[in-house]
Amino acid sequence: MVSKLAGFYEHNTFSLMKIIILLNFILHKADSGCNNSVFTSIVSFPPYEILSSLQALPLEGQWSLRDNENAAKDFGNIFHFPPLAVLYPKTVADISLTIKHVFEMGSASELKVAARGHGHSLQGQAQVHGGIVINMESLQGHEMKVHRGEFPFVDVSGGELWINILHETLKHGLAPKSWTDYLHLTVGGTLSNAGISGQAFKHGPQISNTLQLEVVTGKGEVVTCSENRDADLFHGVLGGLGQFGIITRARISLEPAQKMVKWIRVLYSEFSTFTRDQEYLISLKDTFDYIEGFVIINSTGILNHWRSSFDPKDPLQASQFNSDGRTSYCLEMAKYFNPDEAEAMNQSVDHLLSQLSYIPPTLFLSEVSYVEFLDRVHVSENMLREKGLWEVPHPWLNLLIPRSEIHAFAEEVFGNILKDTSNGPILIYPVNQTRWNSKTSLVTPEEDVFYLVAFLSSAVPSSTGINSLEYILTQNKRILDFCTNAQLNVKQYLPHYSTQEEWQAHFGSRWEALVERKRVYDPLALLAPGHRIFQKAMSASC
Ligand code: FAD
Repeated sequence: MVSKLAGFYEHNTFSLMKIIILLNFILHKADSGCNNSVFTSIVSFPPYEILSSLQALPLEGQWSLRDNENAAKDFGNIFHFPPLAVLYPKTVADISLTIKHVFEMGSASELKVAARGHGHSLQGQAQVHGGIVINMESLQGHEMKVHRGEFPFVDVSGGELWINILHETLKHGLAPKSWTDYLHLTVGGTLSNAGISGQAFKHGPQISNTLQLEVVTGKGEVVTCSENRDADLFHGVLGGLGQFGIITRARISLEPAQKMVKWIRVLYSEFSTFTRDQEYLISLKDTFDYIEGFVIINSTGILNHWRSSFDPKDPLQASQFNSDGRTSYCLEMAKYFNPDEAEAMNQSVDHLLSQLSYIPPTLFLSEVSYVEFLDRVHVSENMLREKGLWEVPHPWLNLLIPRSEIHAFAEEVFGNILKDTSNGPILIYPVNQTRWNSKTSLVTPEEDVFYLVAFLSSAVPSSTGINSLEYILTQNKRILDFCTNAQLNVKQYLPHYSTQEEWQAHFGSRWEALVERKRVYDPLALLAPGHRIFQKAMSASC
């Protein structure tokens, strides 16, 4: 192994990497607009001895010291920071030994560690320039294990993809309760954030449906934690942006799975009617299993787009409907059912729909399998990949907005700032905070009901118009500036900031607790540096 390393340096790659890292540091600093303490020291390239000491660790997994471009990419495709090395761990001990080793180097070393799930972050959150990336998907060990019984659950690896969990649990007639819209993401990646989708109004996000975690802390300790055991670490890690430990295993709560899904879309022209119906539906006990919605600005023929996968309830009326390019709001609902319960399900759906005030000709329905419904975004992914439109920059912006402020937000943002939704969908749906575990690290608005509004833009490279990265970033900034100037109590979801002051403002009254947890579980600030919250070895001054 050591001889491989020596050969590596003989080819002068050492100096080249040193330059790349330095360049990246400079670019990174410029990109982040960072002008304060988050980056105060120059990154020095770790000496040869550090790398050889890493390679000398008795690991079952592998190190990769070259061709690591993939670890410097993510779905956002905006930030690119090459690591020094990538670890492909086989066991939890591999991760623990590596972190322990970096921890023992102490604050003199600049080495930091980023866990990488499926790399679907947006702004380099799973990257680390000149540090160690741990590729969580290579973590093996125990198989997924489903436990039946009154309160069923599944034990999974932190690097497991949710799509695989779906397929495995379905073999037992069970499935997780809470999802993300897209399932090709890892457990560790979504639990570090929250994991929010159309089921979150009922069950809370994925972090509220996690019963136990196994975590490797920033000191390399392996800790099993839950509500009853090391609860502070458990709550800290859930929604904790990877700051307190690497999730190596998670216990996810399950429910009986249905086989089919009735999937429904209706349109509104009035925002107030749309949100009133959404809020009414999420307030009911007996309601849909999934409730989301999206905004359509300056787009005609929307119903024709739906026809490929939905059928109009009244084809004649639907063919005569014309939105004339007005801003419209689509309410999307789904009800799970087994084929032998179809009649009861249809009655229940008809009853719910009869209480809503959508535009009648715009009622579109579809029946798909449970897997097809949950894995729906993968179909779009395949189509976009074929057109070369998946691996483009994604300057996404996700906001959590209190119910009392959603109308002011919509009036300005949908009525004034945005002229078009051709860059990508804008999702908007309310959730019940009461179903969310308030002890996790996730920061949300304080009202009982708040909205997730997600601007899921794709930029076309080298475009100068409305689809260009620059245009979309400017638009996002206008939205954020409006929120600040109007003093809206909005929180970013998948938060992204450049300075520690901004992070402090994001966490608000919870900042002190965050700093204290960082001091306890990752005192040298080795972990998840891609969020740019803490600087290594400066946690005491935060
Ligand atoms: P990565 O990008 O690899 O990592 C994300 C962060 O988590 C990094 O800071 C990383 O260091 C840390 N991390 C990774 N693994 C671990 C671990 N095992 N332990 C500790 N920290 C870890 N989110 C939603 O909530 N709802 C949605 O509906 C939704 N839809 C999406 C659709 C698409 C197409 C995409 C690209 C993203 C979507 N997301 C959604 C956002 C997604 O949940 C986050 O970007 C998530 O972090 C991606 O998971 P990942 O496995 O790719 O994580």
